Amino acid sequence: MTTPTPIVYTDSHAHVDGPEFDADRDQVLARARAAGVRRIVVIGAVGEPSSAERAVALAERDPDVFATVATHPHDAGKMTPDWWAVHERLATHPRVVAIGETGLDFYYDHSERGAQADAFRRFIALARKVGKPVVCHIRDAHPESRAILDDCGAAEVGGVIHCFTGTPDDATAYVAMGFHVSFSGIITYKNAQPIRDAVRCVPLDRILIETDCPYLAPVPRRGRRNEPAFVVHTAEAVAHEAGIPVAELAAATVANTARIFRFPALDVAGAYP
Ligand SMILES: [Zn+2]
Ligand SMILES: [Zn+2]
Repeated sequence: MTTPTPIVYTDSHAHVDGPEFDADRDQVLARARAAGVRRIVVIGAVGEPSSAERAVALAERDPDVFATVATHPHDAGKMTPDWWAVHERLATHPRVVAIGETGLDFYYDHSERGAQADAFRRFIALARKVGKPVVCHIRDAHPESRAILDDCGAAEVGGVIHCFTGTPDDATAYVAMGFHVSFSGIITYKNAQPIRDAVRCVPLDRILIETDCPYLAPVPRRGRRNEPAFVVHTAEAVAHEAGIPVAELAAATVANTARIFRFPALDVAGAYP
């Protein structure tokens, strides 16, 4: 009898650069690896551009960590010319695989909507300039976001609608535009039926999974600080909705994440082929 091949996962969106992980970041990354989670995309976009600097520094020292840079729509209204200069400099860094997260959040409205839209347009232009995909944070602003993505030619570089919270029709529209859709731990929450329904609107080669940690821990970890190792629960929930074994979902999302962010693929055992 042969031992079954362990399942390998990718966390396509994690905020492990943040202060929530300062006390035990190395242990968190070690637990991810022990759970089979390889290739973590660290989103350097929360608050000031020091988040982007920290994400890039993490990616420089860990071959399984990749970084993205931008300013979150929550903070779009605070951006200064200095912030732009940091992002423009880091955007071409070899360990930076995408521009994001950027987009529109009309649920929280932490920044004025016009400022969010201006930043979104500018980050899409930066993504096109450096030829990297865009990671989009969109909440309660799907038609408005699609109009901007379309108007700015974002499909040319492609991207991910992260932590998807739209309807099945929204998912279908993003897929038609050429984008990938990433599901977070929200899919395990009782009231998330429309998000579960959306899984079947996304072809298997366009699905990504993520933690968005430290937020949104999936059931059965809900209420705790989230961390990349917990993406396993989200994988199980997405596989269940897609009607496929978790190993198949995991392998597809590992390959999809590698393809959209253009890093070398891992084989099913987690080795570089
Ligand atoms: Zn987000
Ligand atoms: Zn995020």
